[in-house]
Amino acid sequence: MERLATTREVADYLSVHPKSLDRWASRGEGPPYVVVGTNRRYDMDAVREWTQGQTVTAGPRFKCSICKKNADKGAHIVILSAHLVEARESRKRYEQYLADRDGEIFSLDFDTLPTPAPWGIVHDACDDQLDQVHYAISTERVASWPAFTGTVAHLLEKGWAAKDTDMTGLLRKVGGR
Ligand SMILES: [Zn+2]
Repeated sequence: MERLATTREVADYLSVHPKSLDRWASRGEGPPYVVVGTNRRYDMDAVREWTQGQTVTAGPRFKCSICKKNADKGAHIVILSAHLVEARESRKRYEQYLADRDGEIFSLDFDTLPTPAPWGIVHDACDDQLDQVHYAISTERVASWPAFTGTVAHLLEKGWAAKDTDMTGLLRKVGGR
């Protein structure tokens, strides 16, 4: 059986300063570890798995909007009912605004532009608004780019998601590093 590695050994393996591991651990980032007494120790299999997940082309990046930690597991991408209702109302107001002017607008009041519903990414354990979720996708189901883009394409086929949700914002959220 392979023994657990120390912070220094993992730092050597990753070619980083041991302090980087301390900093990551305090932020809930970095490779997973166990606490033995007061010492942080690393299972090298878990470190190697984490390292593979750091590959830039690996897939979408999911971060919980509540705790700000990695949300690859036990989390959902969600649209809240209240936000969707607001988005639909704001679009209707905008369509009415355009209709009232026969489509001719000389100066556009930005307050009248429709506001799409934002997609949130939340851990199931962090979310206290689960009863208000209109639509949810497990982040584990869309962990690779092919799975994620397939799901986005499916959502864009649904009228409500294409019209009334902030798909651009979601793509920026999961595509950025
Ligand atoms: Zn969370």
